[in-house]
Amino acid sequence: MNTTRHPLVRVMALHALLYCERLFYLEEVEEIRLADAAVFAGRSLHVDLASEKASEKTEVDLSSDSLGLVGRCDIIRMINGIWIPYEHKKGRSKKTAINSEAWPPDSVQVTAYAMLLEEQLGVQVNEGRIRYHEDNVTISIPIDEDRRSLALAAIARAREIRDLPNRPPITTNDRMCLRCSLSPVCLPEEDRAAKNPEWEPVRLFPPDREGRTVHVVDFSAVIRRAGDQLLIQVKGKDDVNIPINDVDSLVLHGYPQITTQALHQCAFNNIPVHWISTGGRYAAGLLSGAGSVQRRIRQFKALSDPRFCLQLAKKLGAAKVETQLKYLLRATSADNPRTASCALAINNIRSCLKSISHAESADELRGHEGGAARAYFDMFPELLKDRVPPEMVPSGRSRRPPLDRFNALLSFGYSLLYQSVLTAIVSVGLDPAIGFYHTPRSSAYPLVMDLMELFRIALWDIPLIGSVNRLQWDIAVDFQATRTKVWMSSEGRKKAIRIYETRLEEKWKHPVLDYSLSYFRTLELETRLLEKEWTGETGLFAKARLR
Ligand code: SF4
Repeated sequence: MNTTRHPLVRVMALHALLYCERLFYLEEVEEIRLADAAVFAGRSLHVDLASEKASEKTEVDLSSDSLGLVGRCDIIRMINGIWIPYEHKKGRSKKTAINSEAWPPDSVQVTAYAMLLEEQLGVQVNEGRIRYHEDNVTISIPIDEDRRSLALAAIARAREIRDLPNRPPITTNDRMCLRCSLSPVCLPEEDRAAKNPEWEPVRLFPPDREGRTVHVVDFSAVIRRAGDQLLIQVKGKDDVNIPINDVDSLVLHGYPQITTQALHQCAFNNIPVHWISTGGRYAAGLLSGAGSVQRRIRQFKALSDPRFCLQLAKKLGAAKVETQLKYLLRATSADNPRTASCALAINNIRSCLKSISHAESADELRGHEGGAARAYFDMFPELLKDRVPPEMVPSGRSRRPPLDRFNALLSFGYSLLYQSVLTAIVSVGLDPAIGFYHTPRSSAYPLVMDLMELFRIALWDIPLIGSVNRLQWDIAVDFQATRTKVWMSSEGRKKAIRIYETRLEEKWKHPVLDYSLSYFRTLELETRLLEKEWTGETGLFAKARLR
């Protein structure tokens, strides 16, 4: 057997392979592992199994070059002078009409441990046992020729699948996906919906965020590590302790200090740290949790093809411009009648939208998309109510520096969006530096700029215009204005962060998938759907529109 070319196969991976070949690929090739509640329960079960008996060994490491296999058996137990491998399962056994049986992947797993044990001890192992804790049943597995052949066939199949360039197809047994820990990554229901318009997808994707983004706005703050917590100290204020497990990213505005120990803690827990300048621009990020090399190579290959990039960019452009159009149509309804200039802008945007589908180059597409963006931004003053003070009404779009309060708010919100999208891209495992539409001219990551286009309107323009119309901004307190620029004050930043974070938590119904999820999770979902575009599961990226 040639063992130089093949790394050893993990016994646990054989279990995944026999459950679903795609699960094996995601875990072993793409190195994606999510610990859901069932996985945590299994881990704590293994901790409880620790034993001190001489006739029993727990968590036994076993490996064999000739079998091409490596693994850690839960327990091996000497009974009547014979070693027997035990596998402990948290769940139930398989019920038949007459008795209880082991599930096939479990039985192959314990057979593989038996074969490894034989090699290691140089003795024949004829039996393995599986203990199912939920129904309190122990099942004996004879290690016969049929089971040995099944285990060897599984090892051979594992090697074949490891060499595939793409993910195997999703399983046809959709009930298996209900219990699969990687369903939020695999997105099987979304794939079924993309292929079959009649399919009514079940939401396996989590609707809410698990942690929260911690924004530190006080320039005198110091962030330290305190055990498993982040400790935020600000002169003259009480210390704030935040458990590290509650944090999904950390954003430092201006000049707070952070200790090396706290940075290590964030890096170790895959928590990105972002810095936003006093002027509200995204300055830098500390990003960990890179995706597997194999996925990055696939992304790089796909996005090196200009025709493929143009296809994606057209989908993105159409989504953005159609959302602009829908928002303008909705915002200029009965209680805010449409003016002649607004009707003209809407016509211009409609005509840009039509042209996008015929664009033959990225430059042509940029022309149409830019035309729609100008018409859209020019309408902002018309979307503000008469009671809004003139200081809050924008005068065109100004970026660096913002020349009025509205533009300062717009830019600051887009910086918040930038860090959210960057966090989503890195957590999904894509490379933010490799995009398909924006050119890598500035220090901004092209893929982040690309994906932001899908979310600017829903996540910032709409809540911002709503807040201005509700007179939520204090002209004197929330801004620092000079003759040449306007910046957000510390108070203004805090208010903007609250509005933005509230919007991220809001749920909406995905118009194509027809299930509800938060905007925060939508960022991740859309990034995963983008990756599907180059893994042969195309169809749902950039389909969502404002309702
Ligand atoms: S979600 Fe379904 S198709 Fe995807 S890996 Fe899990 S079992 Fe397989």
